[in-house]
Amino acid sequence: MDLLLDIAEPGQSLKPHEVRESLERPRHRQRVVGIDLGTTFSLVAAMDVEGRPVCIVDAEGHSALPSIVHYAADGTLLVGAAAQAQALLHPQQTISSVKRLMGRGLAELSTGEGQTPLQLLDGEGGMVRIAVGERTVSPVEVSAEILKVLKQRAEEALDGPLYGAVVTVPAYFDDAQRQATKDAARLAGLEVLRLVNEPTAAALAYGLDACPEADGREGLFAIYDLGGGTFDISILKLNKGVFQVLATGGNSRLGGDDFDQRLVDHLLRVSGLVDPDPHLLQAYRQAARQAKETLSATETASVTVPLPDGTLVQHTIDRISFEAWIHDLIHSTGLACRRAMKDAGVVAADLRGVVLVGGSTRVPLVRRFVAQLFRCEPLCDLDPDQVVALGAAHQADLLAGNGETELLLLDVTPLSLGLETMGELVEKIIPRNTPIPTARAQDFTTFKDGQTAMAIHVVQGERELVSQCRSLARFELRGIPPMVAGAARIRVTFRVDADGLLTVSAREETTGVEQVVVVKPSYGLSDGQIEQMLRDALAHGAEDMHLRLLNEARVEAERVLNAVGAALKQDGDLLAEQELKRIKAAALRLWESAQGEDQERINQEMAQLDRETAFFAQRRMDRSVQAAMAGRHIADFG
Ligand code: ADP
Ligand code: MG
Repeated sequence: MDLLLDIAEPGQSLKPHEVRESLERPRHRQRVVGIDLGTTFSLVAAMDVEGRPVCIVDAEGHSALPSIVHYAADGTLLVGAAAQAQALLHPQQTISSVKRLMGRGLAELSTGEGQTPLQLLDGEGGMVRIAVGERTVSPVEVSAEILKVLKQRAEEALDGPLYGAVVTVPAYFDDAQRQATKDAARLAGLEVLRLVNEPTAAALAYGLDACPEADGREGLFAIYDLGGGTFDISILKLNKGVFQVLATGGNSRLGGDDFDQRLVDHLLRVSGLVDPDPHLLQAYRQAARQAKETLSATETASVTVPLPDGTLVQHTIDRISFEAWIHDLIHSTGLACRRAMKDAGVVAADLRGVVLVGGSTRVPLVRRFVAQLFRCEPLCDLDPDQVVALGAAHQADLLAGNGETELLLLDVTPLSLGLETMGELVEKIIPRNTPIPTARAQDFTTFKDGQTAMAIHVVQGERELVSQCRSLARFELRGIPPMVAGAARIRVTFRVDADGLLTVSAREETTGVEQVVVVKPSYGLSDGQIEQMLRDALAHGAEDMHLRLLNEARVEAERVLNAVGAALKQDGDLLAEQELKRIKAAALRLWESAQGEDQERINQEMAQLDRETAFFAQRRMDRSVQAAMAGRHIADFG
């Protein structure tokens, strides 16, 4: 039990609350982007003038930024292709696949995920750190470097500072991994409008939330994502316009890199090379990747690779041979797909569509395999390696209030949901960006002796003070048996279902008295209003914190004064007149300080009163012990 709640004494009317109803919708189109922070490649996308999402390219025309960061010994930092070029010479200072380390501790990584040339260390809060030369960096910092490059690229293309971004994460990411991703964005100077699941973003890019196949805005979809080093399968359910992840599966160690390796093996064999040095091997890898990508479009590809003596040899590879080499790898994804469908309780015939995501789904054999497995032609009109970023851009645009549509896709809570506690403070129960459906509970207790009712005021927003958040509902829990302050145990439970509907229940645990209300938190606010509230929260963070501390001190002062008052009434006879005077004077000073704005002073006066009453507390305790020994209850005194 960690909090004191507001009191609604029977008959006492509740204070009227200001709700800022008329928040303005942004008048101009906001500069917002969608970011796919991938294991091997990252992309940024935004809406073009015609309102279609497009990926933003770099000076060379590339949309995909290799998710690689190099920390040079002289302190320079390289990101992307330039960093990749250093991987061979400085494997320990060149960090790739950092996404695998996000929100993870060293212990969690020892099994498989940690296979890397990097030097991993135990860091603060149990999170892993990476040693690069003389210093160490966190996965959050490394990801922030990738995000900074994308942010800058977008700001140049959009000609101004970004207002916010939607960042995608794998559907299976847990709280710590999601939090780490948000921290990385914040570190890069990006305001995260929302985290969106990668498969959900892909579904959005295809407009599945509004497609005719999903009649009545319902339907089941499979998202098949084969990237550079990971394979993910997700089964999504569209329910009243809300995507719900029913099941996920995959293989975190399978992707296009494995296709490359099969080609490398072949090239080494025909070149008669065993155990080549790392530089030569790297050249073969590059050639193999190029050949692989060519074979997605043409039947044959020619490759030129160097021999140890420096001469170059040319080989021709045909698609049929390549497919034979990678056939088993592709087939192995079928198992995970079938398992995910089983977990979700669906069969292939139930699915209304299958979406292809990830660069490796360009391989024609992958497409044929998926079509056969799910018995339908997969959706692949959009670039599979861009589709997640495009969907994220679309979502960002909606959130920023740029679009005309009122539809708000809720696969996470857009704003925090909480309760008013003493001192008009907000206690957040369900933080912003929590995937829904979700349920969280917290225990509260009474503030005053004999309190029989409690006001439950449900609010939405990021600010610390109730008056600056949006009021969603109020109700009262009555019939609490009279007890001393702090003895009652009231469990308040917040539940948000897939529709974004919030149910709040409060239950006194000893008597079982319960009250329930249903609130509709998100649809009441337009996307523009949500954005405004987030912007306010950001702008007033420090100010709110100060007010929060001040209010907390005031609440504590009131509680202490109540307690001292009650003790004096009960056991005042234990004090000499002089002693009583001193305690009353200290109490008065505390009361005066609580009327002011100086939180420090309130705390000092509280400490002073505590010192003045120490001996009094001791005497009261002695009396109660004596009373107990005499078989009498303390309440009999007074
Ligand atoms: P991730 O999501 O893991 O960061 P991507 O979805 O961008 O990665 O996929 C990267 C993989 O896609 C790489 O292995 C790359 O070689 C592969 N790839 C990209 N284009 C093609 C293509 N045309 N044909 C086959 N594979 C491709
Ligand atoms: Mg990806």
